[in-house]
Amino acid sequence: MAETGTIAIAIDGPNGAGKSTIARCVAQTLGYAYVDTGAFYRAIGMFAVESGADPDNADEVAACLPRIDISVSYEGSRQRTIINGRDVTDDIRSQQAAEAASKVARVPSLRGKVVELARSIAKGENVVMDGRDIGTVVLPDAALKIYLDASLEIRAFRRVWELEQAGRPAEYATVLYEISRRDHRDKTREASPLRIAEGAVVIDSSRMNAEQVCARIVEELAAVTGRG
Ligand code: C5P
Repeated sequence: MAETGTIAIAIDGPNGAGKSTIARCVAQTLGYAYVDTGAFYRAIGMFAVESGADPDNADEVAACLPRIDISVSYEGSRQRTIINGRDVTDDIRSQQAAEAASKVARVPSLRGKVVELARSIAKGENVVMDGRDIGTVVLPDAALKIYLDASLEIRAFRRVWELEQAGRPAEYATVLYEISRRDHRDKTREASPLRIAEGAVVIDSSRMNAEQVCARIVEELAAVTGRG
């Protein structure tokens, strides 16, 4: 349990491992808030691109920061992401926003801003928070840390299926390439690279469905806190 008396579950892992589906399921099961930190990087990435900054240029990205006011609101366990008063929750689900996010996420000053926001949310309520640095940097004292993984091929296959369901068919080879490129960026950047946090429970979901992974995490929490 954190000093403030709230409980946090940190879920990290590579792109397309199913973190958001699982985190939402765990949050709903336990009545916690689901905090999607990737949404913050997506919103800032989209804002930077729309403002004419090159997401590959750290100075240009950092220069946007003073003009960014990012906040969240919750409808039950659903997060709405708001940047400068504009609700971008739906717009940031695009491939372009994902790409911009993984580029701007390399900028340390930007990460500082997101970490501060994420920690302030976790201070006020019980959360299931997902991202790349939650167990390592944002909430190293989380009651439970999970590293959710799956093979690259399975992650790409699932993403293609999701896109198809959303009426946006995509080539398997293209999706696989894009996921592997974003993973590479996340794992090799200098600022808070994706790593397995100390004490994290590693779950490979390649042969598990979402309900099984969700149930496993709820069990793990019960084991560490005596609740669940
Ligand atoms: O999780 P999601 O796909 O929305 O994240 C988009 C990008 O934001 C990731 O590829 C990663 O580069 C970045 N990110 C991060 N740290 C987090 C969450 C997301 O660097 N805690």
